[in-house]
Amino acid sequence: MTTILDGKKLRDKIFEQLKQKIDKLSKKPTLAVILVGDDPASKIYVKNKKRTAENLGINSLVFEYPSHITQEELLNKIKELNNDKTITAILVQLPLPDHIDKYKVIDTISPIKDVDGLTPFNSGKLFAGEKPYVYPCTPKGILLLLDEYNIKIDGKNVVVIGRSNLVGKPIAQMLLNRNATVTVCHSHTKNLAEITKTADIIISAVGKKIVGEKMLKSNCIVIDVGIFRDDNGKISGDVDFDNVSKIASHISPVPGGVGPMTIASLMLNTVELSELNH
Ligand code: NAP
Repeated sequence: MTTILDGKKLRDKIFEQLKQKIDKLSKKPTLAVILVGDDPASKIYVKNKKRTAENLGINSLVFEYPSHITQEELLNKIKELNNDKTITAILVQLPLPDHIDKYKVIDTISPIKDVDGLTPFNSGKLFAGEKPYVYPCTPKGILLLLDEYNIKIDGKNVVVIGRSNLVGKPIAQMLLNRNATVTVCHSHTKNLAEITKTADIIISAVGKKIVGEKMLKSNCIVIDVGIFRDDNGKISGDVDFDNVSKIASHISPVPGGVGPMTIASLMLNTVELSELNH
């Protein structure tokens, strides 16, 4: 029988503890979110983040700009938020329009307000094996989920599919820092299935249906980060859940697995940064 790694349940548990903690804080955390353009998915994500923050007692400010905002205007807004003592966390919703250099934008966020943990300071710390101010949200959420189900990482063979700065690279490094043997696969990887068959734990962050039951050894642990709409418009993950769950010992569902853990980590990071800033 496979165990479902229930991200919703753990998120709710984290929120309950976090709400009590925030209630006791004399200075409330304030999360500033910058949204550029009118991508419908980004708008929904930002709305959900604001609502979740406010339900927990976190102040949340959303700064919306049209897609034709100049890079300079955007960088100036970030600098203003960096200098504003009432703001304790800054998030720039990605993706940004093509004329804006996202790396310049991320580099401008003050590391101590970098709630996504993506600035060169925080990612540099992570890759040096040191402690950043906060860890990137999705990888942090994945590790919280594995820990909740007492899944050991030390000495395990982990295969990460995907090498983005947001998910693949930081989760690989965080696992390495916890003494896993990590293999990172991507679109140029040859014989993916031969590699995934060696894995005790598979983490797939691709954005298309890629992991089937023939690619796994029995009793492996499968974390599905992917989230996209399939041809029928249904929310889907990277993993063929029905067939893979017959083989895997543990599996995270989509929706209800890594997604809720990402938002839980965002709220945890917001509170951690508030404590550091104050
Ligand atoms: P991304 O930047 O598009 O990266 C996708 C990665 O998949 C790339 O490294 C790419 O390789 C690799 N890839 C593509 N086709 C492949 C193939 N056939 N075989 C092996 N690797 C392949 O995406 P991302 O931001 O990391 O997100 C990945 C997925 O996770 C998306 O569905 C996204 O929506 C989802 N996501 C979910 C959450 C959550 O909270 N649940 C959070 C973040 C992201 P190359 O580098 O060679 O191009």
